[in-house]
Amino acid sequence: MTLEPRVRLAVPNKGRLEEPTARLLHDAGIQFEATMRALTVPARNVPLELLFVRTEDVVELVADGVADVGVTGLDVLAESGTDLEVLAELGFGRCRLAGAVPKDSPYDDPSDFAGLRVATSHPRVTNRFFEAKGVDVQVIALRGSVEVAPKLDVADAIVDLVSSGSTMMVNGLRPVVTLLESQAVLVAGSVRPDVRDTVAQLTTMIRAVVAGRRKRYLLLNAAADRVAEIDDLIPGIDAPSVVPLSHAGPGGEAMVAIHSVVDAADLWTLLPKLSQVGASGILVLPIEQLIP
Ligand code: AMP
Repeated sequence: MTLEPRVRLAVPNKGRLEEPTARLLHDAGIQFEATMRALTVPARNVPLELLFVRTEDVVELVADGVADVGVTGLDVLAESGTDLEVLAELGFGRCRLAGAVPKDSPYDDPSDFAGLRVATSHPRVTNRFFEAKGVDVQVIALRGSVEVAPKLDVADAIVDLVSSGSTMMVNGLRPVVTLLESQAVLVAGSVRPDVRDTVAQLTTMIRAVVAGRRKRYLLLNAAADRVAEIDDLIPGIDAPSVVPLSHAGPGGEAMVAIHSVVDAADLWTLLPKLSQVGASGILVLPIEQLIP
């Protein structure tokens, strides 16, 4: 028996990206034993081996060829300075790298950072950003607790990751500039030739899950003469399917079922409008995978 070569996929073993990454792989149909204590775990149903490592180490392992592909944050990739290929944006771990100043300071603009001491755990991105703007800053590289640096008078401003903004607020800081929008990404280095097909398959499946999460399957019934109105309300590129129903409506009118795929983000405004134009029996179903 010849063993099919396994793709080596490096994934975070702790931190913010650990749980959503495991869920993504599960939703993509990859079965594995979640014994996170083991460094490597083979998938049961796919020629793939998981390497559980720290989020920051993923880029280096992929760049060095220890892993073929990996999951990490776009901010981590940007800070590493390596040019791995981004195969897919994963839609979680969303945050932005922001420049922030003490909230009662007069600074408002990147140019106001000129001459300031800027504490950050992203020194490369910070240097690149201010250099490109021709603003001279003194970057102070810290590994953690960046947001307390101004209080300790170690720095005048910071560049740090923000999602809700509450950590900055608690520390009396005001974000004034965005250096980078980040989210988790699937990255690849120079993939070994014998696993290229599996990497392509993995990418397709992961993209299909990410795309499916943003969409919902919408079913509804309506009188046949309302189809044009409903069609106008349903956004999207593809025309909805319209299927005749075997029963007429209460007034004897011909009825149809309409099936469509819509953006999850639009449902909030879409459903009441559909109801207003006479749609009934509206069902919204999750989509596990979507390949356009
Ligand atoms: P970890 O340090 O392992 O928890 O992972 C940190 C990574 O999670 C960062 O590099 C970002 O890509 C992502 N992330 C998402 N939101 C935030 C946030 N508010 N603060 C820090 N990291 C975040």
